[in-house]
Amino acid sequence: MHITKNRITVGNTIAGNPIDIVTYTLAAKTAGKRVHIQSGMHGGEITYWVQHRLYNFLKENLTAGEVVFVPCANPAAWEQRSYFYTFGKFDLYDGKDPNTHFPGKPDGSLHQRIVHALQGLAKTCDLGLDLHTARKSLPYVIFTKESYAPLVREVGLKYNFLDDGDPSGSFDAGLDPLNIDNLCIECGSHDEYDAGKIEQVFQGILRLLARLGMIDKSLTVHPANDSHWFRKDKKILTRDAGFVRYDVELGKPFKKGDTLFTLHPSSELGAEQPERAPEDGVMYKHAPTHIYRTGDETLHYIPIDALVKI
Ligand SMILES: [Zn+2]
Repeated sequence: MHITKNRITVGNTIAGNPIDIVTYTLAAKTAGKRVHIQSGMHGGEITYWVQHRLYNFLKENLTAGEVVFVPCANPAAWEQRSYFYTFGKFDLYDGKDPNTHFPGKPDGSLHQRIVHALQGLAKTCDLGLDLHTARKSLPYVIFTKESYAPLVREVGLKYNFLDDGDPSGSFDAGLDPLNIDNLCIECGSHDEYDAGKIEQVFQGILRLLARLGMIDKSLTVHPANDSHWFRKDKKILTRDAGFVRYDVELGKPFKKGDTLFTLHPSSELGAEQPERAPEDGVMYKHAPTHIYRTGDETLHYIPIDALVKI
């Protein structure tokens, strides 16, 4: 096994220190496929746990090919901090989501340069994985082509989002035009440590590596559940400002008429407004807060009849 730790300098901080993207490459003695796994495109989305577990496992078990780990893909986004909150979803300089810049620009804004460097790393891989977290959620895959469904099945998560509309400049917009297979995996909630979710994603990535002949298949386990995809979800906005208590659980199907959540409108201390489900469905993510303005997004659900089994 050959291990390389590398740094790509994309610029300097105002204090004159380098802004580096740190990468780790594990190369087996036998040639094989190349997999690129990046985390932390958005500061505050901790998928480092999965990278750490995979890296240590593959140091012992990678038998062919090469895996490139990029644990903090966007170092600038991780420095946008206020008190204990890391505001890495948007560049506070231009208000843009850094994950809309792929394939990046070598002479653009700092975030565009970072994306350009990531694209340079990923463009020679056979499979690219972009790990994120989503508000409060269970792990799920976002994928851009129906032809990726066998890969999604391999990851083995229950509900997965086929986002095959116009490209938004996220990681897929760099790799799809190069015909490189790629998946975005939402590994759970923001700023979370959940051993069960980490294990689910870790096992899913192992199955992908076994499929590519990079590790022994006997090291993998079967997914614990069926996998489905959906193309359209529904989101519910608050009718008024106030405080929300969720009454349904992530991933647990609900029936039409069930109370999804209860809003306590802050304009009337004694009041409660239950929000009823308009149809049968399942909540797969909700906003990572109990505090809402009028019209804020609360939960996203999948109508049960929108689910397609893989
Ligand atoms: Zn993200």
